[in-house]
Amino acid sequence: MKLSGYMKLTLQDYPGFVAAMCFTSGCQLRCPYCHNAEIVLSNNQRNYTDREKKAVEFLSYLEQRKLQLDGVVVSGGEPLLQYDISDFLYKIKKMRLAVKLDTNGLIPDRLKELINNRLIDYVALDYKNCKEYFAETVGLSSIENQEVIDIYYNNWRTSLNYLRENSVPYELRTTVVRELHPISVLIHMAESIYKESNQPERWFLQSFLRSGQLMCDYTNQNTRLSSYSNEEMEEIMQELLRIASCIQLRR
Ligand code: SF4
Repeated sequence: MKLSGYMKLTLQDYPGFVAAMCFTSGCQLRCPYCHNAEIVLSNNQRNYTDREKKAVEFLSYLEQRKLQLDGVVVSGGEPLLQYDISDFLYKIKKMRLAVKLDTNGLIPDRLKELINNRLIDYVALDYKNCKEYFAETVGLSSIENQEVIDIYYNNWRTSLNYLRENSVPYELRTTVVRELHPISVLIHMAESIYKESNQPERWFLQSFLRSGQLMCDYTNQNTRLSSYSNEEMEEIMQELLRIASCIQLRR
């Protein structure tokens, strides 16, 4: 298990829980608005041992603080890329801590395995965009061929379907970028998930905020990125709430 870092305490990232949070190294995607570019790109570097040590250090911190904590958020990068994540989560569960997984959903088999082994208590699944805008939104349109992008998108669908069939609570979440998510696209995204699901699936929208270095600054993507104003987001929400009442804005 390789960690790029961890936070000893967060009250925001696992709602209702006092949690610690860790960030795994590496990701298959290159979303231009990603704030964790260093974590994502760090897998290309050679200091694997340091990252493995960081995971050991994090587990040791949890062991010391397990009575003060309720849970752990495992985020990234993309945590499911870690081949030994199962062992890592098993150690956390043994401390009687709840686990929230943040994932892009591209490795459905590993997600299934972790859920089947009761190693996850909550999943936050990225809902990047509808199929037509997927490649651009995840920063792969100029790097990967369409076949690979289709496989990624279909894998995400498989993860979503699997969550729908199971009892582990989950949410969908989208970072809304004006240039990648025109209102017509957001409406299409809402219609496409709520048409096929008869459950009140929670979908959180969060407005993109430019702060610090983004993935597009590292990868020279030419994507222009900006956010909707608060008023525009409110108007968008009014439109989306006509389609489903369980869509929420996360500030
Ligand atoms: S925002 Fe995109 S690139 Fe960044 S960690 Fe998430 S899925 Fe990977």
